[in-house]
This record gives sequence, structure tokens and C-alpha cells, in this order.
Amino acid sequence: MTTYDAQVAVIGLGANGAQALYQLAKRGISVIGIEQHWSPNERSGHAGEHRVLHPLPFSPEGSPDHEILKDIMPAWKQFQQETNSNLVIESGVMLFGHKDDDEFQVIAQNARNRDGDDRNVLDAKTMRERYPLFRTDDSGMGVFDELGGAVRSELAVYTAVHGAKKLGAEVHTDTKVHGWAIESDRVRVFTRDREFTVEKLVISPGAYIAEMLPHLPIRARHLVMAWFTPEPEYMDAYSDPKQLPAFHGFIPHRRGEMIYGAGSLDKPYVKIGADFNWRLTDEIHQTDFHVVPEDLDGIRMMARERFVGLDDAPLRSVKLMDGWTVDYEALVGHYGPSGRVVLSTGFSGYGFTVAPVMGGIVADLIEKEETSYNIAHLDPNRFTEPNDSLAEWWQVTGGWNRSWSKL
Ligand SMILES: Cc1cc2nc3c(=O)[nH]c(=O)nc-3n(C[C@H](O)[C@H](O)[C@H](O)COP(=O)(O)OP(=O)(O)OC[C@H]3O[C@@H](n4cnc5c(N)ncnc54)[C@H](O)[C@@H]3O)c2cc1C
Repeated sequence: MTTYDAQVAVIGLGANGAQALYQLAKRGISVIGIEQHWSPNERSGHAGEHRVLHPLPFSPEGSPDHEILKDIMPAWKQFQQETNSNLVIESGVMLFGHKDDDEFQVIAQNARNRDGDDRNVLDAKTMRERYPLFRTDDSGMGVFDELGGAVRSELAVYTAVHGAKKLGAEVHTDTKVHGWAIESDRVRVFTRDREFTVEKLVISPGAYIAEMLPHLPIRARHLVMAWFTPEPEYMDAYSDPKQLPAFHGFIPHRRGEMIYGAGSLDKPYVKIGADFNWRLTDEIHQTDFHVVPEDLDGIRMMARERFVGLDDAPLRSVKLMDGWTVDYEALVGHYGPSGRVVLSTGFSGYGFTVAPVMGGIVADLIEKEETSYNIAHLDPNRFTEPNDSLAEWWQVTGGWNRSWSKL
């Protein structure tokens, strides 16, 4: 008879793996979390003080993500309450863009539909009056997502992992998973020092999926964020979340099509991230996390051009990674024909906002094989034939002794 170490193993304890671990433990499912570094860590996708939570969808009415986004703020608040933590910053999110940008008009329409009126759709004049820290030209406009905000990201990962431990989960950090084998009655998970035997496996390695399952159309994408200081006469304004809510700016036809960020918890600094092309890779080297001055050029330009009274000298900066899919949709669902593997990865820049809901979806799939959410658009098998038999896996990885990683 097979002896199991637990019902489930979760590979990767970042934004989504930690939530899956927590949600599984909460349902009384015995679960082991395995993290190659430490959790939280700044070698993957979830570090950098906070993440913007934007429940207002960017996609047209009727898109499947609307249902998921509707539930994210209640899910974050429930998680916060259950763990007696202080994670969510309820500042709202200022979304700014251009009135001739059709995609931004979709967001404005979503706000009208959700709020029942036009109160949060702001023309350029109103933007300049109410939000003078954002530099708005005559073609600009804003949409205030009054339900959104930010979440303390490292603390959220920490809270989920420690909350799961309290509920009985077993956690192994500094333990890199080198491979797994799916057999008729079990999944064997291989690390340097030992093997774990479980009934089911959750794979949630963030950008490292590009090395782990390289046939999937996901690549590791580097992203940089930096912190800036307001000029002395603007320090009070930048310290006030009413004047500087979390923000997400859409800048069409420009190098760097969007920026995002929030006031630092270390007031009065402002953290800005942006969408420049810092490199896609499927070979992740630990030295890749070093920020060079050129990495900051675009964000410094944004600090000058998009904000009033912000000095463009970065005080500190981080370079992280996320897994980016070819269609920008995550891969969440059963992977392969065995029914034993659930993938939760490829979040393409939005994976923190949705993490507690995704954790619940993963737990549904493990516990009941199905979820009430429509996740057809996230189907991991939408790109490729199943490839999780033992023989195929060994062929992909080169076998037991070889890791996919070049670390
Ligand atoms: C700079 C930046 C800004 C962002 N801003 C936002 C935002 O404002 N709002 C938002 O919603 N999202 C944002 N995102 C996206 C969001 O942070 C990511 O989508 C999210 O962190 C992905 O979660 P994850 O669990 O898939 O991966 P991660 O959080 O990267 O965690 C994966 C974990 O798996 C571990 N791991 C990998 N391989 C192995 C292995 N072989 N064995 C064991 N462990 C392994 C890693 O070490 C890591 O800890 C941003 C991302 C970045 C990088």
C-alpha cells in the first residue's frame, strides 16, 4: 500500500502558491509547501513593498475575468480578517489614460456600469483640480476605482504561509523541486535531499515555470520598480493617500505603455513600476536581479513626465520577474490527463490582485475536481497537448539527475 507524506504538495510559495497552501490547509486537506528560496523572497515576483489591487476590469463587459475580479476585494478582506493581519490599503486606484484610447474608454464604461453613475469618470479639467499630483494634459482623463487599493505584498505571502502552518501545513523552504513523476496512484516530487509522495500536485513557480515546463508558451519577464522622493513643498501632498491613491496609468503609443505604483509606506516616497521591455528569458540566473542604471531610465522619465513635484533620482529599486504567457492570460487548471496536477502560473503582471481567489479555485480543483468560476480562458491545456506522463517528463527534463535550472 502506498504511504503518502500528505494529500497535496504545492511547488512554489509566492503570491499564488502561498494562497493555495493556505486555502487547502483551511479546508482540512493535508498539504506540504515547497519553496526553493525563502518565503517571501525577492528572487521571484511578489516583493517590492506592495501591489496594486484593481478590481475594476480592463476588459469589456461579459469577459470571464469580471466574475473573478468582483470577488477579489471581499476575498482579500476575508483573508485579512481570518489571519488577524493588516494587509489591505484601501486608497482606491487612480486609473489614468487618454480619452481617444478605446481600451481606456472600456474601463470608463465598466466604472459607469459598476458604480451606477459617472462619478468616477473624470475629464482632464477635473483630474487637474482633484488630483494635481498626476500630470494630466488636455487629452487625458481618469477613472477612479473606488473599491481598489494596494496590498502589502511580502507580508501577504508571509501571512499565508504562516497561516497555513498554523492550520497544519508542512513547509519546506530552501528546498528546490527538481522534478516529479506521475504514477497511477501517486505523484512523487523530487528535491535534492528527499522525495515526497502525495496524491496531488499544485505547480505554482511563477516565472520559473519557463525553465520547469519550457514547452509552455510562458517566458520569464523582468520588471523593475523604483522609489522616488517628492520635492520639499510636495512632501505632505505625496504622503496623503487621498491625493496620491494607488495608481495605474495607460500611456498608448509610447515607449512603456503603462505605469503603476502607490505611495510608499515609508512616507513620503512614491514607488513607480512601468512596462518597459527589460528582457524575456527562459534561463533564469540569480545575477539577473541586479538593477543597472539603464534599467531605470524609463521609470525616471515617467517620474518626470507623469507626476508634479517628484524628483527623478531613484532612492532604491528592485528587479523582479513574472511569468508572461503569449496571450497574457494565466494558466490555472488541471494539467494533463492524470487529474493529479493543477497548474497555477503565468499571471502576466496581474497575479497579486487575484491571488486569494485563485488560491480558492486551486483548492476547489484539488478537493472537488471543479470550481464554480468560469476558468475556461485560463485552461493550461489550451496551448499544448498534455505532457505529464513519466516517460515524457523524463524526456523533457533529461531525467532524475538533471535539473532544468541553470542557477
Ligand atoms: C515588479 C512587479 C510589479 C507587479 N505589480 C503588480 C500589481 O500592481 N498588481 C498585481 O496584481 N500584480 C502585479 N504583479 C504581478 C504579481 O506580482 C505576480 O503575478 C505574482 O507575484 C505571481 O505569483 P506567483 O505565485 O505565480 O509567482 P511568484 O510570486 O513569483 O512565486 C513563485 C515562487 O515559486 C518559487 N519556485 C520557483 N521554482 C521553484 C522550484 N523549482 N522549487 C521550489 N520553489 C520554486 C519561487 O522561488 C517563488 O517564491 C507585479 C509583478 C512584478 C514583478
